[in-house]
Amino acid sequence: MHQGRARKGATRGHSWKILARLAAGTCVAAMLALPCAAAPQDHPPASVPLPPPAPPERPQELTPPPPPGEALQAPPQPPERPAELKPAPAAEAPKPAETQEAGKEAPKPAEPAPLPPARPPELSGEAALALKVAPPDDTACRARLKRLGVAFEPLPPLSSGQCGAPLPLKVTALEGVALPQSAILTCVAAEALARWATEVEAIAERELKRPLRTIVVGTSYECRGQNHDLDAKLSEHAFANGIDVMSFGTEGRASLPVAAQPAGSEEGRFLDAVRGKACAFFRTVLGPGSNAAHANHLHLDERERSNGHRLCQ
Ligand SMILES: [Zn+2]
Repeated sequence: MHQGRARKGATRGHSWKILARLAAGTCVAAMLALPCAAAPQDHPPASVPLPPPAPPERPQELTPPPPPGEALQAPPQPPERPAELKPAPAAEAPKPAETQEAGKEAPKPAEPAPLPPARPPELSGEAALALKVAPPDDTACRARLKRLGVAFEPLPPLSSGQCGAPLPLKVTALEGVALPQSAILTCVAAEALARWATEVEAIAERELKRPLRTIVVGTSYECRGQNHDLDAKLSEHAFANGIDVMSFGTEGRASLPVAAQPAGSEEGRFLDAVRGKACAFFRTVLGPGSNAAHANHLHLDERERSNGHRLCQ
């Protein structure tokens, strides 16, 4: 009897094993449609298999992200920068802090650097090359020359590198005073020469007791530097604005050259007087004693200086 129960129990246990194997096979075949039976020895299932308990709800924080493109919301944008704090359009290099802040903003196209104003058409191209400084109007000056009795004729404009004169005149004679060598001068210089010559006539009558007949001039227009120095700035001779006077001729005596004369002599008084009077008509007067280059002539020119300064030596 006891043996029979044991056999029955063994037989019943053997049957459970078979059922468990069948259940496991069903579980695989049905692709998890039925719960897989646990080891039959540990948890003998009930006669009817129960459905497995539902899995716990997934926590909210573990919810997977939505598919891309659906919920990728744009990150919050910083507030718009006030206009007064925006960098100037003049392309200043942004400071490092500004660069970092700008990186947070949406990318903006770089503002182009401001361009300089357009060159006026009259200053461009051939128009600029044709632009010339209008020469002074010598009409009034030439009228005065005629009233002074100056013999002259207009010459074409002179131009040689930086040298030249837009309205040169060829002066051939003064009133009552011959010019054995004509002079090429601006009208201003010619007028000064003519006005000075009237003073020279008076001085010749006073000091030499003879009428003035000739004024021998040397260089007038010549493209060269001061004192014939190539490195010096251009002489007024280069602009027909200067003249060298070499000697004076009076009636009945040998011409009087410009040179150092014995003190107190009539020749010395004459030369000192005409030289001093020249300063009233020319802005530059150099002669014997000024420097070695002017030991034998008077250099007279109309160089303009600041504040009307004159050079009389
Ligand atoms: Zn000179």
